[in-house]
Amino acid sequence: HAKSLGRNNYQFYTEKLNQYATRHVQLEAGLKKALQDNEFHLVYQPKFNVETQQIVGLEALLRWESQELGIISPVEFIPLAEETGMINQIGNWAINQACCQLALWHGQGFEHIAVAVNLSARQLKADIISTIEVALAVSGLPAHALELELTESMIMGNPQDSVAVLSQLKALGLTIAIDDFGTGYSSLSYLKRFPIDTLKIDQEFVRDITEDPDDAAITSAIITLAHSLELNVVAEGVETQEQLNFLRDGGCDQVQGFLLSKPLTAINCLALLNQEKNS
Ligand code: C2E
Ligand code: MG
Ligand code: MG
Ligand code: MG
Repeated sequence: HAKSLGRNNYQFYTEKLNQYATRHVQLEAGLKKALQDNEFHLVYQPKFNVETQQIVGLEALLRWESQELGIISPVEFIPLAEETGMINQIGNWAINQACCQLALWHGQGFEHIAVAVNLSARQLKADIISTIEVALAVSGLPAHALELELTESMIMGNPQDSVAVLSQLKALGLTIAIDDFGTGYSSLSYLKRFPIDTLKIDQEFVRDITEDPDDAAITSAIITLAHSLELNVVAEGVETQEQLNFLRDGGCDQVQGFLLSKPLTAINCLALLNQEKNS
């Protein structure tokens, strides 16, 4: 009996492995032609000033709608794009698209809005400086309206190189945010060595802020830390009014999350900006 069970487990395992491998091959083939087939678009998730609840910025998030495979989450395709190196082309597309879209909205009376683009580690190693220079020049977007979101692990992979690249980016006039702050395993010393403007508190801490005293303590500590270092602090994944109240009372600068707005298509985002302006 044990023997047959073992064999079944083995069959189950190889079947899962085959399914996984097939999916991987399909995704990789799909990704290769996704750019030329226009299968990517950006959605924009607003960041709100906690006090005024006005929109101060937008985070551009990549979406892939594959002809063959349907809608695929960035959580699934970004790691694959990173692995294969395709993230450089896809990421460049996202940077250019976000800059052009924002420049358009600046021209429509929303000059106070900034846009943030997420970067992958491989993009830092590629020619990110000239990519950004070209995107700003082509779009006409002022550099101060562009923010880049990087994770701790990305910049700690090669701290020396990162300091150099981030300094060059800062020299262009844009701002740098640390995404998913607190979930890496890095020492805090990089915070004083890198030219950073903003910390984004990971939604992992925000989720249980009102029930778990540990998460509440960590979140409060991050807000205090950010402000002592004269950094802006944003909370991600705010889903309830109770979480928002906690963050407001704790002095958090900005919030982002489903409570105030999900990521929006460009059309819906402009509608929201107009609605806010006219209210
Ligand atoms: P991220 O940059 O930390 O983005 C936040 C993610 O949380 C987004 O998922 C967003 O839709 C989701 N989110 C926002 N508010 C809430 C909330 O209240 N509750 C919950 N449960 N989730 C919320 P998304 O769009 O699936 O993106 C996942 C990740 O994919 C991003 O995490 C980012 O690391 C990566 N990504 C997305 N677009 C790009 C891109 O253009 N380039 C690169 N390199 N990475 C990207
Ligand atoms: Mg982000
Ligand atoms: Mg994040
Ligand atoms: Mg994340």
